[in-house]
Amino acid sequence: MLTPDLIEKLSAIVGANHALTSESDIAPHLLEPRGKFSGHSPLVLQPGSTEEVSAILKLANETGTTIVPQGGNTGLVGGQMPAGDVVLSLSRMNRVRHLDAADSCITVEAGVILHNAQEAAAAEGLIFPLWIASQGTCQVGGNLATNAGGINVLAYGNARDLCLGLEVVLASGEVWNGLTSLRKDNTGYDLKHLFIGCEGTLGVITAASMKLLPAPPDRATVFAALPSPVEALELLSLVRRMSGNAVVAFEIMPRSGVEMSIKHGGCRYPLAAPSDWYVLFELAGFDAEGDMNGKATGILEVAFEEGLVSDATIAASTQAAQDLWRIREAMSEVQRLEGGSIKHDISVPVSKVPAFLDEATVLVEKMLPGCRPVPFGHIGDGNIHFNVSQSADDDKEAFLAKWQEVSAAVHETVRKYGGSISAEHGIGTLKRDELAATKQPVEMAMMHGIKQLLDPKAILNPGKVL
Ligand code: ZN
Repeated sequence: MLTPDLIEKLSAIVGANHALTSESDIAPHLLEPRGKFSGHSPLVLQPGSTEEVSAILKLANETGTTIVPQGGNTGLVGGQMPAGDVVLSLSRMNRVRHLDAADSCITVEAGVILHNAQEAAAAEGLIFPLWIASQGTCQVGGNLATNAGGINVLAYGNARDLCLGLEVVLASGEVWNGLTSLRKDNTGYDLKHLFIGCEGTLGVITAASMKLLPAPPDRATVFAALPSPVEALELLSLVRRMSGNAVVAFEIMPRSGVEMSIKHGGCRYPLAAPSDWYVLFELAGFDAEGDMNGKATGILEVAFEEGLVSDATIAASTQAAQDLWRIREAMSEVQRLEGGSIKHDISVPVSKVPAFLDEATVLVEKMLPGCRPVPFGHIGDGNIHFNVSQSADDDKEAFLAKWQEVSAAVHETVRKYGGSISAEHGIGTLKRDELAATKQPVEMAMMHGIKQLLDPKAILNPGKVL
């Protein structure tokens, strides 16, 4: 129980100004932006340093007080929502500690907003290539705790691949300083990987050393219409071959989703005639005198000849490229304006995406007559956001009530194709009860063992993941 005495002691660690107890101050931490997950909590702590996080966890561990770490509160699976627990908000830990261009490394505190990390890199002519829709709000600590993905995974990997080292406060309050710019370090178990993707259940990430890369000066952005996902994959191989593997993003979108972005997202339709499917891809290269748009034109000529593409446009300016990307980036948020949407974040082997899409679409159309499937996303990684919008006639509540039943069936199809039920959003509470059906017993046993070792009193983000 969180007694008034304990609230006072925890608050004293961060100072009264940074211990929120009033309903209105706490409220923003109790609801995520889509409103799907809500929580309740008597106390939000906003530590300003690793030492304060350490003192909080030490006291929490001694008193059996449960803690829910929270970054930008943009998670999509409920992992950041408290159920009566104390919220540990990392927002005030927002300093860029160090940027070393020679080592191509940036060390940021957990609360640094992703966009600010990107800007810090850009100021040195470098890129921090984690690129996700929530980057103006989400924080690097949360990106790592959830192993965020996004549109550049194809070229640069996910948050895990970009991480060189971590600073973590353990449940006991001990601080592990594993910050490093080393590219190679084979000295036993690579502990950072336990905390990346742990969703705050094994420790609290307070800082991270992340890889930076040189910024490619030459880019081309292409929006193309094509008949089906089969052609999309053929186009991906063609683009890879002909561009010298310069593809940094390759996204698929269905007609239904593009129409929603046009209708609600303030986007303009960039082609002449509609098509069942589209891809949006980006090439990036290092030839300062390069002509990536010219290269893209050459690739599209071959794609037209081979019947892969029926129409296409190449962005003529940075603004035009942003406008094309807006169609893709708006796709998730605009679905809200079309009523209820049952969402999945799945992956299958890249080659299996077309077959999976065929089968899962037939499945949901049978279970939800009149529904509008809106499967889109990172086809180059085999990761599809298999979302299904209600029909105009459906009752929203009745439609959403079928979420679990529909998800179970979609996920069964995912498993049949050797895929994953969570490609980049994590487990949280949304998929917790399905985890055991997805993992082998030996995997679940290892995960429980690691949890027991690092958080024996189960104070860290209880009820999430496991
Ligand atoms: Zn995504």
